[in-house]
Amino acid sequence: MKTTVLVVEDNEQNLFLVTYMLEKSGYEVLEAHDGLEAIEKANLHIPDLVLMDIQLPGMDGLTVAAKLKAMPKVAHTPIVAVTSYAMIGDKERFLRSGCAGYIEKPIDPDTFVSEIEKYIKGQGIADGEA
Ligand code: MN
Repeated sequence: MKTTVLVVEDNEQNLFLVTYMLEKSGYEVLEAHDGLEAIEKANLHIPDLVLMDIQLPGMDGLTVAAKLKAMPKVAHTPIVAVTSYAMIGDKERFLRSGCAGYIEKPIDPDTFVSEIEKYIKGQGIADGEA
């Protein structure tokens, strides 16, 4: 079975780019444009990884992350925040919301997939690399 990544992103261009890169690398991609769609799809498909845009319409990404972590079915799925405003203190905020780490926007196509793979293999920054 293919590794499934749930990409939560409200910007169509970013969503297209991320989906393209992941599919090219052999991943199965599920797309969600907001928190409710993310929760619904996570519950149905139980992804191996969630990429969570922080700035979303309605519920923000950290709220969605916390809700996913509270769902027994997906509680063990790593969530990686994708954000353009990672500042001092943000990392702690992300980790508190249940995220395994974060990736900064703009996404670097040269390193993106290898970054993602670390989290799937459980070697993200929450596991002591930071
Ligand atoms: Mn956004």
